[in-house]
Amino acid sequence: MTRVAGHGLLREGAIYDENGHLPHGAVVRSGPGRGKCECGSLSEVLPSTAARRRWHADHKGEVGPFSSRYESGEEGR
Ligand SMILES: [Zn+2]
Repeated sequence: MTRVAGHGLLREGAIYDENGHLPHGAVVRSGPGRGKCECGSLSEVLPSTAARRRWHADHKGEVGPFSSRYESGEEGR
């Protein structure tokens, strides 16, 4: 997993509401919701933590030093 300074996926893809708060103050990592980046960016409502992680990888590609051709090695072997 590549880190871009100032852009960490908060709580490993836990769900945030449209105001960027944890719903009910609880960390929930399953089911639909928004991902939130350390920089404050919120994703759309996404169906799963995996989707939130993909959103965040794309987000880092946009803001970070990596172009879209960069792929995380996570899914490789
Ligand atoms: Zn960010």
